[in-house]
Amino acid sequence: MKKYLAILAFALLGQQAFADECSVALTGNDAMQYNLKEITVPKTCEEFTINFENVGKLPKAAMGHNVVIAKEADKMGVATDGIGAGLDNNYVKPKDTRVIAFSPVVGGGEKTSVKFKPSDLKDGENYQFFCSFPGHVSLMWGKLLVK
Ligand code: ZN
Repeated sequence: MKKYLAILAFALLGQQAFADECSVALTGNDAMQYNLKEITVPKTCEEFTINFENVGKLPKAAMGHNVVIAKEADKMGVATDGIGAGLDNNYVKPKDTRVIAFSPVVGGGEKTSVKFKPSDLKDGENYQFFCSFPGHVSLMWGKLLVK
């Protein structure tokens, strides 16, 4: 019985490690801050998920946050065009080919997620995740490292 439990625990731990490796938990608050400055994405993951929670208290019209993934060089252009697209489009210009993936805008206490394939990210390119809510991009961004 002891042996069986040990094997079971090992199997569960193995699954847990795999799930952890291909996803990350990110939060954003009412002070326009993400809790992470950097996210490492293993190339070995078929799909990578950023689970995002707005841990603030303000509604999304006032202090909404999202998670957008793009090249560092495209970040400001994507964010600027996103302002014109408005909240109905989650502050991302429809069919913006510079955007690799994005989540909806969520308000205080709400959760969302964004998924993408690490194989879509090129070697040697600098990628970032950021919030495209108007005025947030200068504070809310981090590096997306593919390894
Ligand atoms: Zn934001």
